[in-house]
This record gives sequence, C-alpha cells and structure tokens, in this order.
Amino acid sequence: MRLTLERIRKEAGGDILRRGEKYYQQKRVKLVSIDLDRFDAEVSGAMPYRVSVQEIGENLYSSCTCPYWTTCKHVVAALLEAKDWYDENASDLHQARTHPPWKRFF
Ligand SMILES: [Zn+2]
Repeated sequence: MRLTLERIRKEAGGDILRRGEKYYQQKRVKLVSIDLDRFDAEVSGAMPYRVSVQEIGENLYSSCTCPYWTTCKHVVAALLEAKDWYDENASDLHQARTHPPWKRFF
C-alpha cells in the first residue's frame, strides 16, 4: 500500500485529521498485522478500537469498531502509523513476494 500524507488527507477532513495526527503522535496505534495491500491495527482511545484498511485498486476501504459513521480519527492515526511502516519495509516485502527466497535454489 502506497500511503502518502496527501492520500491520507483525502480520507478525512480538518478536525478528524488533526485528532488522528494527535493519536498517532501519542503513539496510540499498534499495528496488529500488515501486508502489501491491507493492514489491521489497534488504536487505544476511550476504549481499544480495531481498525482495518484494505487497498483495492486506487481506493482505500477502512473500517473501525467505533460508532463514528465515516472515516474516524482512529483510521487516520492507523494510516499514519502504517505509512511509516510501509516507507521502511514495503520494498523488502514486495521483493520477498515477487522473488521468494527459495527460488535461489533452482
Ligand atoms: Zn474509529
């Protein structure tokens, strides 16, 4: 998943974006599982919330266990945390997928 700040800003507007950034800065996000096109995270707010994001084509589909009806601050915080992870690891992961290590033996 290629996440940029610009892309994350498209998912949520002003106030939600700011609150999500704050959650991210307060290190409230724990990535639970992460793959090339999807990830799950746990965000501790008033309660722990579970966030899932999946990328299909150009679109991001996100869900959160909180009652908010559209992209919430938990999703924004999770996207920011995942962005750091993808920035660091996505190329390795992609490499591992497209050139599995066992192929070297053939
Ligand atoms: Zn939420």
